Amino acid sequence: MLTNDQLGKWDRENFFHPSTHLGQFARGEAAQRVVTGGEGVHITDRDGNRLLDGFAGLYCVNVGYGRQEIAEAIAAQARELAYYHAYAGHGSEASITLSKMVMDRAPDHMARVYFGLGGSDANETNIKLIWYYNNILGRPQKKKIISRWRGYHGSGLMTGSLTGLELFHRKFDLPLEQVIHTEAPYYFRRPDAAMSEAQFTAHCVAELEALIAREGADTIAAFIGEPVLGTGGIVPPPAGYWPAIQEVLDRHDILLVADEVVTGFGRLGTMFGSDHYGMRPDLITSAKGLTSAYAPLSASIVSQRMWDVLARGTDENGVLGHGWTYSAHPIGAAAGIANLKLIDELGLVENAGTTGRYLQDQMQAALGDHPNVGEVRGEGMLCAVELVADRDSRRFFEASEGKGAKVVAAMLERGVIARAMPQGDILGFAPPLCLTREEADTIVSVTRDAVAAVL
Ligand code: PLP
Repeated sequence: MLTNDQLGKWDRENFFHPSTHLGQFARGEAAQRVVTGGEGVHITDRDGNRLLDGFAGLYCVNVGYGRQEIAEAIAAQARELAYYHAYAGHGSEASITLSKMVMDRAPDHMARVYFGLGGSDANETNIKLIWYYNNILGRPQKKKIISRWRGYHGSGLMTGSLTGLELFHRKFDLPLEQVIHTEAPYYFRRPDAAMSEAQFTAHCVAELEALIAREGADTIAAFIGEPVLGTGGIVPPPAGYWPAIQEVLDRHDILLVADEVVTGFGRLGTMFGSDHYGMRPDLITSAKGLTSAYAPLSASIVSQRMWDVLARGTDENGVLGHGWTYSAHPIGAAAGIANLKLIDELGLVENAGTTGRYLQDQMQAALGDHPNVGEVRGEGMLCAVELVADRDSRRFFEASEGKGAKVVAAMLERGVIARAMPQGDILGFAPPLCLTREEADTIVSVTRDAVAAVL
């Protein structure tokens, strides 16, 4: 049996962790946690802590930890057929069954699903399909992709470029030139405090129109957006935002990619965020909630109108030159089937709506009037508390003060995991969709105590 000291040493000497201060970690100056188990909304670690995971891992363990049904499905699939590829018309019973289950749940105008591994590769797939589509339509110059500042779309070359957070560009030579950014629909941080939500929506739309006019609609292929901005701060859009954006895109023949990696499969209280906001995307990106992270799997879902052009393209040009070894991996597909069944059986989409609303209301009641809380906001099982130095003037803390991170650390000491969102002092909550009211109450009381201790 390894000692904690041995494991800690190996970790610091060998493991290159993502999104980590590399030097500090290697020197033993940054936190380390070895997670050993999970049950429901709780995880346990090697130091004997039991923590309520208010962020469902990375907003992905939607059905909660320790679901034996999914574990059994994965084990059975591994015994029967751990792997075969999906190239050239091959498949497994699991991947074909899951494709049917996904399409049964997707908006009616969607036609096919392409399986990958995670949200980043699914977005890469979607961008390649968009470029292919415009090449087949004979408009090779229509290639730029509009993304929003504060959007998060992954960490690859293209997806890191689409991501509108400085941290993911800094020193990486991103964004690539095909990517252009427009205003984030972030009402709390609107340029003029006197603006109503409707006026701010009109402002975002005008910014988009100006960008399209400047670049030329004939050079712009698509607009990508999360129904609710996630990593950029958990920000639901202002009233009327998506219908107004959709109208502009339709008028300029610009495709819409709904990045539903966080919102897909129930998190907003509807199966997809597109349903929730009346978006009509040509492509939907999904991953996390598809398997609740029991195995890596992503889904790029394409509309009928795109599918028709893609199919015509391969009639003219031969096989679509795009695939991953692990596309539609049978073990991921088995996890996906068991996960989607469980979501239905437990009514988790509905619970995300009702208990999510409860969490947000209780958070508002506990912290809404605090002098250092600028806003409590959310949608479905997504909630955020934005901290400010001064509430009336909406003055923010200096980033170097690290107030958000300090509150999150104080919460951890009290047994609850929240996430300090990467840009701004924002406490993020995205618990498993099976959260109960009692567990929501625990999250709220711990947040209130931690805010009181730090601010
Ligand atoms: N898109 C969104 C909206 C996400 O939140 C994420 C990850 O958090 C991604 C894409 C990237 O997914 P992955 O980390 O699985 O590559």
